[in-house]
Amino acid sequence: MSEFITLTGARENNLQDVTLRIPKGRLTVFTGVSGSGKSSVVFDTIAVESQRQLNETFTWFVRNRLPKYERPHADALEDLSPAIVVDQRPVGGHSRSTVGTMTDIHSVLRVLFSRHGTPSAGSATAYSFNDPSGMCPGCDGLGRTVRPDWDRILDPGRSLADGAVRFPPFAAGTWQGQAYTNTDELDPDKPVGDFTDDERAFLMRGRPGSKVTVNGTGGTWTTEYEGLADRFERLYLKRDLSAMSEKTRNLVREFLVEGECPDCGGARLNAAALATRVNGHSIADCSRMQVTDLIAVLKEIDDPVARPVAGAAVTALERIEAIGLGYLSLDRETATLSGGEGQRLKTVRHLGSSLTGMTYIFDEPSVGLHPRDVGRLGDLLLRLRDKGNTVLVVEHDPDVIALADHVVDMGPRAGAGGGRVVFEGTPAGLAAADTLTGRCLGRRTTVKADPRTPTGELWVKGADRHNLRDVTVAFPAGVLTAVTGVAGSGKSTLVAELVAGHPEAVVVDQSAIGVSARSTPATYLGIMDTVRRIFARETGAEAGLFSFNSAGACGTCEGRGIIYTDLAFMDPVTTVCGDCEGRRFREEVLRLTVGGSSVADVLAMTAEQALDFFTDTGVRRRLSALRDVGLTYLTLGQPLSTLSGGERQRIKLATRLHRTGAVYVLDEPTTGLHMSDVQGLLALLDRLVDTGNTVVVVEHNLDVVAHADHVIDLGPDGGRDGGRVLFEGTPRELLAARDSSTAEHLRRATG
Ligand code: ADP
Ligand code: ADP
Ligand code: ZN
Ligand code: ZN
Repeated sequence: MSEFITLTGARENNLQDVTLRIPKGRLTVFTGVSGSGKSSVVFDTIAVESQRQLNETFTWFVRNRLPKYERPHADALEDLSPAIVVDQRPVGGHSRSTVGTMTDIHSVLRVLFSRHGTPSAGSATAYSFNDPSGMCPGCDGLGRTVRPDWDRILDPGRSLADGAVRFPPFAAGTWQGQAYTNTDELDPDKPVGDFTDDERAFLMRGRPGSKVTVNGTGGTWTTEYEGLADRFERLYLKRDLSAMSEKTRNLVREFLVEGECPDCGGARLNAAALATRVNGHSIADCSRMQVTDLIAVLKEIDDPVARPVAGAAVTALERIEAIGLGYLSLDRETATLSGGEGQRLKTVRHLGSSLTGMTYIFDEPSVGLHPRDVGRLGDLLLRLRDKGNTVLVVEHDPDVIALADHVVDMGPRAGAGGGRVVFEGTPAGLAAADTLTGRCLGRRTTVKADPRTPTGELWVKGADRHNLRDVTVAFPAGVLTAVTGVAGSGKSTLVAELVAGHPEAVVVDQSAIGVSARSTPATYLGIMDTVRRIFARETGAEAGLFSFNSAGACGTCEGRGIIYTDLAFMDPVTTVCGDCEGRRFREEVLRLTVGGSSVADVLAMTAEQALDFFTDTGVRRRLSALRDVGLTYLTLGQPLSTLSGGERQRIKLATRLHRTGAVYVLDEPTTGLHMSDVQGLLALLDRLVDTGNTVVVVEHNLDVVAHADHVIDLGPDGGRDGGRVLFEGTPRELLAARDSSTAEHLRRATG
């Protein structure tokens, strides 16, 4: 077996015939500015090809049920091993997925409670909230219930005839509403708030056998009376909301409230499961505790029969603690985890597995991690390697780069100016190399000498959400503030409180951009209308032709540029559309040019090239916003769905510049940014402040912290052991602070 993974002539995205040998059983870190091609090598070439080759080993029956992968553009890809991608994509939405279920620790607890708890509720499934034998019947194991909001549906001050029912489909005068105004059992002119208990019960639930007469298009008829609550529940709660029209769905949502399930108090389990105790704790208690506390509780179990099961849970929990997530609880829904937290939890799962000879691929695993915890992350990566795996990491953090056995530096620039390997070797070799990354490594940080004077204060008073304990803190207005602290210390929670109290806040986060699959930087920035107008004006054709969602689109590929052929039980083939040659437009539209370029040529331009091309001031202003946020390497036509979290955050920022008097809130804006691009980001933040805004960033990057006017440091630890303000002041004052690990790392970075 070869000791190397070999790529020959890789050409995916911007890669320019990349040929590489990556040592197996080693930790290789990929560096380079954003857009240089790191992901194109690691994710779009290596990961895709190993998955594709793996899928080929299955029968067509199985293969047909697996996601389809296409062969990446390359001359040869050899000696790959099965790849596991551990990325920052959200861990999974549905509310039955918790930290406990995802890590399988919940199932170990279930065994513990069923075998060793008293009184036992039965076998292990009796403690599963995803199994009918364990789930709370009130909420089907969800812990929360969605109920009709009766305070909103019924106006107690009005009578039924006078519009007491505010839910439009059942309102007085509608055909459904007649049941309530026509029944002989209720006085239609009596305010609903004055109903006796019996009357109210009848209104809501009816009584078997009671009838009511209503008028409809077909005349008058008598029918069974159905209570208001029964009818609402039958029509809107017991049916799948997603099957209703969007209009109905939105209407119904207005009349629903979501809250903790009254039957189980949010614990998700039925009474029998909740009654079982081990050492005085119920399984719900154990799920609610933070991991560090649960470890202590399980270690107290001294029953010799129960010990091995408890021990298995402790081993898994200690892995969670080891990567700095000891502040999480097992009942935490995975949908509420940050990308970095999710990625680290996925890593824990793989550490427990005994597979070897795999390729593990990580996307910027240091995201969301305080410098204090980067060391622990490094241990984790090395442990994966030492189990006999190949570990590939895309990373900007110098501390992670330093751990590598081998470094591949991509560059020299982004987009078409990148796509080549500019250095290969050891971290020490890279630090001495004359590449952008090499020159940035080992550079010292200097703290800001003359912080700005605040123009006012924005208060958060008595905040006690999540782990914050009665936190009162002032964010200085008109300056750049960095909120720091280890993961789980409460930074996001505190900043969310600031946003909740200040309507002028502009939150720029990394969440998905909710636009159509055909959105591109050009459509998102809103320049396509102008581009179409310019083409119409210059060519005399109709503006609508220049849209790939319109009549101007190539009919063969419907404006997609590619043709997707599903060959049933063989690999699907996407081919560039032969009619338009991938250019998405009809031939006659492509013949219409402005300054020698067709609309397809314009969409293939990078923002940088487009800036040279356009003279329209509106278009130029929007494009230069992309330059401000360091995204000029994107082409105008690249699908937005291909952007990373960091790129998404920056393109959103590009559309929200040019305000004054706003409070900009950014969550780790350096995500995905190369060290050399951080200076550009800081210049942008400075500009925002200097044009009259307040800027608040949650950040771990010490260059940003050192450059802030004000720092609010939370800690000292995550979860229960965090939630306090450890330090407030200038970066220079922070250098002198004791008992703050942020201060300690800032001293190291500047020393
Ligand atoms: P990095 O990981 O170094 O940030 P990428 O490999 O993501 O860089 O991107 C390299 C270049 O390829 C960039 O110009 C990027 O805009 C482009 N690119 C990435 N993915 C796609 C895609 N799916 N379609 C078109 N262009 C892409
Ligand atoms: P940071 O931003 O510093 O990483 P967070 O504000 O995300 O910290 O978390 C602070 C504490 O609040 C942690 O104990 C975390 O587990 C908890 N927490 C955060 N978000 C939620 C949530 N949606 N539900 C429950 N607990 C949460
Ligand atoms: Zn319940
Ligand atoms: Zn076509």
